[in-house]
Amino acid sequence: MILTKKSTIKKYAKLIVRVGANVQKGQTVQVYADVDQADFAALVVDEAYKAGAKKVNVEWGCDAIMKLNYRHASVKTLSTILPWQEEKMKWQSEELPARIMIDSSDPDGLKGINMDKMQKASRARYKVSKPYSEKMENRHQWTIAAVPGEAWAKKVFPGLRKSQAVEKLWQAILETVYVTDDNDPIEVWNQVNEDFKHKCAKLNAYHFERLEYKSSNGTDFKVWLMPRGRWCGGGETDLNGRYFNPNMPTIEVFTTPEKGKAEGKVVSTKPLSYQGQLIENFWFEFKDGKVVDYGAEKGKELLEKMVTMDEGASMIGEVALVPCESPINKQNILYYNTLFDENASCHIALGRGFNDCVEGFEELKKEDFDAMGVNDSMIHVDFMVGSPDMSIVGYTHDGQAVQIFENGNFTAEFN
Ligand code: ZN
Repeated sequence: MILTKKSTIKKYAKLIVRVGANVQKGQTVQVYADVDQADFAALVVDEAYKAGAKKVNVEWGCDAIMKLNYRHASVKTLSTILPWQEEKMKWQSEELPARIMIDSSDPDGLKGINMDKMQKASRARYKVSKPYSEKMENRHQWTIAAVPGEAWAKKVFPGLRKSQAVEKLWQAILETVYVTDDNDPIEVWNQVNEDFKHKCAKLNAYHFERLEYKSSNGTDFKVWLMPRGRWCGGGETDLNGRYFNPNMPTIEVFTTPEKGKAEGKVVSTKPLSYQGQLIENFWFEFKDGKVVDYGAEKGKELLEKMVTMDEGASMIGEVALVPCESPINKQNILYYNTLFDENASCHIALGRGFNDCVEGFEELKKEDFDAMGVNDSMIHVDFMVGSPDMSIVGYTHDGQAVQIFENGNFTAEFN
């Protein structure tokens, strides 16, 4: 087995800082990492200072401790945001640090946690944190990238020894973000971002009124798009003009459809890992944009928790196009992690939509997004519906039908 070179891992850390978060001179940086990823976090901190960061703060996560808190502390305690914690949120919403999330989480890490307790507590905390996160939205750069945690690697490659599994997951992850021993991944990403711009421009030029999905597995679904909606993909620009890549890797082009306007059935094509547990072979039926029926071979009670989380949880926040020929799909690895799995298949998300999927979002306010039909919810959960025979047709406002997807891939026009 080849060992991933230290220099290659360093190059990845630099890529995250420069292309992912695009850290600016004099800017504060917040890094979030799991306690067992201190070595990689240190590389990221080092690269952030090299990029000119003023100060880099690291916040550590640990599933085992989180589980203990949820076991022993009361819902009331867990629901409370302490004054100093709220002060920190306030500071962040004014300071606007670049935020770097390093994900290495165990897909089963929260197994056994009291879900009701967690749901109640996060609902309560969300009420306090929401205005601060809204204040930061589109005003700072952020990125999520992944490194292999041991438990995660064992879950993805159960047949391998721990160290081998970690090594194999390193290779797989680096492949998805175009980092090799001897390339310049920053150059590759600049090209990738150019390609995204072209694809989105082509889709946006049609101003589709609705999309129709069909697949032999039972998916037969229509969804309407916002008149001012736009397709996004790859990097984005914050209101201060800083270009960054929120997800590494990323293959999808996506938009937020109009809330309340979706009809028909969508059938999942990959399992969904939700709050540390798997939901398999499930489907949703939509009417007037809302889930009116659903089923699952495994994990139906989790689906129920999900769609009843709040009012917006039963409505759609995102539709995303990912071809079957996506390099991540070709790897044929189930990562049990949305960052990767959502880039292997066309998907739909229940819950919160994206304000920046509206043309001219820079000048708009919360009420405008509500009025235009951007869904709001505390959840945003992607599930996969892409299949090798999937067809997606876009209909323009003057009735023109345009084949966007055929046999699971973009038609030549959109490639
Ligand atoms: Zn997505």
